[in-house]
Amino acid sequence: MASQRSFPEDDFSIYYVLAECTDHYDPCPVNEAEENQPHFQGVTGLRNLGNTCYMNAILQCLCSISPLVEYFLSGKYINSLQKDCSEVATAFAYVMTDMWLGDSDCVSPEIFRSALGNLYPVFMKKTQQDAQEFLIYVLNELHEALKKYHWRKSYEKKSIPRCCRRMIANESSIITRLFEGQLSYSIICLKCENCTYKNEVFTVISLPIPSEYECSLQDCLQCFFQQDTLTWNNRIHCSFCETKQETAVRAAISKAPKTIVFHLKRFDILGTMKRKLRTDIHYPLTNLDLTPYICPTFRKHPKYNLCAVVNHFGDLDGGHYTAFCKNSVTQAWYSFDDTRVSEIPDTSVQTAAAYLLFYSCQPFSIPRQKCKS
Ligand SMILES: [Zn+2]
Repeated sequence: MASQRSFPEDDFSIYYVLAECTDHYDPCPVNEAEENQPHFQGVTGLRNLGNTCYMNAILQCLCSISPLVEYFLSGKYINSLQKDCSEVATAFAYVMTDMWLGDSDCVSPEIFRSALGNLYPVFMKKTQQDAQEFLIYVLNELHEALKKYHWRKSYEKKSIPRCCRRMIANESSIITRLFEGQLSYSIICLKCENCTYKNEVFTVISLPIPSEYECSLQDCLQCFFQQDTLTWNNRIHCSFCETKQETAVRAAISKAPKTIVFHLKRFDILGTMKRKLRTDIHYPLTNLDLTPYICPTFRKHPKYNLCAVVNHFGDLDGGHYTAFCKNSVTQAWYSFDDTRVSEIPDTSVQTAAAYLLFYSCQPFSIPRQKCKS
């Protein structure tokens, strides 16, 4: 997809309202019981509907991505809703509104679950699902519901049959604007050194884990972006040599998304054996530098800050998911374990349970409102 198009700047006006609500909240007296702790907007638990911790963890993370929160709470999404597939996006907006603007400490994602379950019955079953796969389903459905076509200049909309429009127009939505990036693979024939490029769109990058016990996120990134040599059965057909040749392949980010999601590949499959890698992966909360992996011409905002984490405990089949999210209003980190919510110090955000990491190149804080003169 074209990356040159410019989009309007994010509008944070809804946060001024939220910040005012928070500012005006009277802190409870010191000796009051714990249940009287102030309830901050967006710091809301989610009811478990029977093994739906994977859903709750993903909802918490998505509901802490400020531009996405702003887009739904401000009602902007209504203008983009595709009539024939609006159910999931509408239900998502309802849950988010309850979480950000409701009075309750805890809400039920029932409506959202049924909307998604109508399309994918597997999510109605009370069985554990993979949070990463679930995230991709949710992002795809939100994109389908909210996409708009942008016509390339050389085509007239009316002259193109409906069935072909998707091929010719660029589709964009709040989801592609926030989460969609592009990888560019350089493919070099090791005999004639002819180089070709192949592009691939992504919303989540699945990173290999190069160590059994301990490593850094940078080690995982280096492993993903290092040059790979394809030999034997994996050789690629070279159009110059007109035969299969040994090939060197290397990926680089040719379009960096505003919010980049890393999936740590903890589930290893060896033949029929599945095992979980419990490697303690060290990841930074601020200033993750992606410069080495972004094509030089596209290094506009290479520094990323962590905004949310999905954790996985236990094994593949009987595990449990929780989320750590940074609240854009209070600027504090919170742990979300279904209905249980607690503030946590920055030092507790990095653990060996991390499974998905959400990084953003935009700081999620409320811009200072100018004083009215
Ligand atoms: Zn060749």
